[in-house]
Amino acid sequence: MASRSSADLEALLGREVRVSNDANCFALSEACDGAGKDAQTVFGAILGTGVGGGIVVRGNVLVGPNAIAGEWGHNPLPWPTDDERPGAQCFCGHTGCIETFLSGPGLERDYFSATGKRLTSIDIESGAAGGDAGCEQAMRRYEARLARALAHVINILDPDTIVLGGGMSNMQRLYAAVPTLWAAWIFSDRVDTALVRNVHGDSSGVRGAAWLWPGTDIRRASHRPHRASASYNHARTTTAQRASTANIACSELQAFSGEKIHGKSLR
Ligand SMILES: [Zn+2]
Repeated sequence: MASRSSADLEALLGREVRVSNDANCFALSEACDGAGKDAQTVFGAILGTGVGGGIVVRGNVLVGPNAIAGEWGHNPLPWPTDDERPGAQCFCGHTGCIETFLSGPGLERDYFSATGKRLTSIDIESGAAGGDAGCEQAMRRYEARLARALAHVINILDPDTIVLGGGMSNMQRLYAAVPTLWAAWIFSDRVDTALVRNVHGDSSGVRGAAWLWPGTDIRRASHRPHRASASYNHARTTTAQRASTANIACSELQAFSGEKIHGKSLR
């Protein structure tokens, strides 16, 4: 059963395409041989133009009956301050979703509302590094919000490792700042969860997407250029596609990882 998205891609590329949630693919890629390779439970968080998440437990993607496991971007920002309520309107119909704060456009909107100036998220980060007070304050608000959003995840899932992906994951300061902030919101006296940057690039999900072909011989599949895999944003997967994703395992990805796969997810 092809979704409209996969049918469009198939028509465009002239080849069969399978699709699944990019955050799941990202988390799988990093859990297998990336930043979470030694962890039993990995939460992969994509912070890009949108915000999503995926969960890998002992090498297997946790999908769930609704195929939304880990998708915390459209939960409300936890422990909001008065000036964070009700928050910006989200495309999903709600206001104040985590995505409206932690996506790249979310940071840019926050900076604009505070300063009246428009800068890209990259420029906001570099401005903060250069000593600009408005940029620094925006970055600190972003870090505080990310700390609360991830503390919520830790309180429920208690992952060993949280791997960040998406364009915002390139902000190196997040990895030092956020763990100093999240302890206030985590229901434990001690927090051993690691917050780490991806190893395979901020769009590492493309590697995981290669494993939407269960049941094929991995070494043979690597020599079949007529097949392509793709990840896409906010997937609404069919039952067949859920089953495909559920069958992804680290052993399969590791067998395939000798072949380099280049590309970008659409998030
Ligand atoms: Zn939303």
